[in-house]
Amino acid sequence: MTNLFNGFFQRISALINNLIARGISWAKKVVEEKAKEGRLLSDAELIIAKRVGVRFPERIRLVFVDQIPQPEDPQLLEVARSTGLNFPSTIGLALGYTIFIRNNNFSEKVLAHECRHVYQFEQAGSIESYLQNYLQSLLIDGYTNSPYEKDAQAWEKEGQSQNF
Ligand SMILES: [Zn+2]
Repeated sequence: MTNLFNGFFQRISALINNLIARGISWAKKVVEEKAKEGRLLSDAELIIAKRVGVRFPERIRLVFVDQIPQPEDPQLLEVARSTGLNFPSTIGLALGYTIFIRNNNFSEKVLAHECRHVYQFEQAGSIESYLQNYLQSLLIDGYTNSPYEKDAQAWEKEGQSQNF
């Protein structure tokens, strides 16, 4: 029995690692293609980014889109959806220093949330290591309960009730 389970878990874990690797290469490709379309943060937005802990807020690019980029890979999409990450209803997505925000959904609260993901990515040191951790937590805890999401939510208030 033990060997059967070992084989099973080895295959599951290989499958998960493969999914995560595909997620990471998708993210890197999106950043490579889209970051240049983004704009820099305004002075007021830089303050929010600093307030949530971003070390190099001047590196952030804001890209406004009609729809948040989503993987074409159907398996990747399905797994994301099963964790509660539903791309069609997503209004913000941070990939490294590139922040995507869906048109007409920009707010200081959304900016603070996404900037906190930038902070988390800076702490991890690279897109690869951040997404490795983030996607793992997505699979284990689900989107709503992911510590990364809870942390980003907790910092949303830093973008609120500021005077611009
Ligand atoms: Zn988030």
